[in-house]
Amino acid sequence: MNAESTFARLICPNLGCVDAAEDSEDETWRWSALCAQSDPDEFFPDKPGRGGSVQAKRVCARCPVSAECLDFALTNHEEYGIWGGKTRRERRTLRSTRAVAAS
Ligand code: SF4
Repeated sequence: MNAESTFARLICPNLGCVDAAEDSEDETWRWSALCAQSDPDEFFPDKPGRGGSVQAKRVCARCPVSAECLDFALTNHEEYGIWGGKTRRERRTLRSTRAVAAS
């Protein structure tokens, strides 16, 4: 499974792949994900030919579960895509900041 399909499985309820009974953590926030109503390609601006992260960040800025989404991505070391309005590089910086604060 590639990163995009993983993301779509986690985020997009329309794909019907999320089985709440199998979830070990409370990830019901995914059902309110605004990106489920958007083009998934917009959330992977790192790939060649993609237009950058601006459109995805606009969606994330209006998303009611952006904090939960970002926390999930940071906790699970998600490498690809926009999560919680943050790019891979921005998440890396946040993880470093969290690590320093925790030490
Ligand atoms: S914050 Fe962005 S990536 Fe996360 S669920 Fe909301 S719209 Fe999707």
